[in-house]
Amino acid sequence: MRWVTRGLRNGIVTTRYPARADNYGPGYRGAVAVTDAAAASEEEAEALCRACPSGAIRRRGARILLDQGACVLCGRCVELAPTRVGFAPSVEVACTSRRTLVVPSSPHPVAGASQSPIRRPGRRRWPFRRSVHVRHVDAGSDGLEEEEILALTNPVYDVQRLGIFFTASPRHADLLLVTGSGVPGMVDALWETYEAMPQPRLVVAVGTDAVSGGFLGAGGVDRFVPVDVYVPGSPPSPFSILHGILLAIGQLQEGDGG
Ligand code: SF4
Repeated sequence: MRWVTRGLRNGIVTTRYPARADNYGPGYRGAVAVTDAAAASEEEAEALCRACPSGAIRRRGARILLDQGACVLCGRCVELAPTRVGFAPSVEVACTSRRTLVVPSSPHPVAGASQSPIRRPGRRRWPFRRSVHVRHVDAGSDGLEEEEILALTNPVYDVQRLGIFFTASPRHADLLLVTGSGVPGMVDALWETYEAMPQPRLVVAVGTDAVSGGFLGAGGVDRFVPVDVYVPGSPPSPFSILHGILLAIGQLQEGDGG
C-alpha cells in the first residue's frame, strides 16, 4: 500500500525530453566551455596545460585549445582560470564529428545562458523511423559509463517510450553503444559485434575513454570501428547518452542547444 501512496504523491516522474528540454540543475558539469581563448600570457596558458591531468588543454602561444573529448571534468582549469573556462550546464554535448569537440569556443552554452524549452526535431533517418535496438559493448571501461547507460531504462528516462530498446544480440541491433577505450582483449570482440549487426548500423562512442582514450591518450574506439556520434564526459549523464542516440538516429539536430 505504501508504494501506491508514494506513487500517487510523486505523480509522473518520467522526463518529457526530447519533446521539452530537461536539465540537472545548478552545478551540473556538462562540458568545459572556453569563454576566452586568449590567455593573458603564454605563462598563464602553459599553467592551464600543466594543470590538466588528461592533456585536454593545448596552447598555441597564449591561445588555448580544449579537447572536450579528452576532458575528464575534474574542474582544475575552471578553478585556475574561471574567466577563461567554465562548465556548460547543457546535457547536449554529443556531436557527429570528433573535431567539433576541440574548442576555441564551445558550441554549448555556458552556465547562466538561457535555454529554449522547445525542441526542434531532426529529420529521422528512414531506416530508423520506428523502434531502435541497441547493443552495448564494454571495450575496457572502468564501469562508470555502464551505470549511466543502465539508468536509461529506469522510470525517469524510460527510453522504451521513445522506441529505444536494448538487445543482447548484435544481429537484432541497429545501434552499437561502445564504452571504454578499446583494450587489446576487446578489439576483436568489438569488431565481430559490429560485423554481426545488420546494415544500416550506427555506432555511438560513450564517455571520454571511448571518445579519446582518456588518460591512456592512445585514441578512441574510432580506431577500430567507424563512429557516427561521440558523447564526451567522464561519465556522460543519461541525458547526454540519450542525446547521442537521438542524434545518431536523426531524431534531433546537431547544435540544437538545450
Ligand atoms: S576540467 Fe577537463 S580540461 Fe579542465 S583541467 Fe580537468 S580534464 Fe583538463
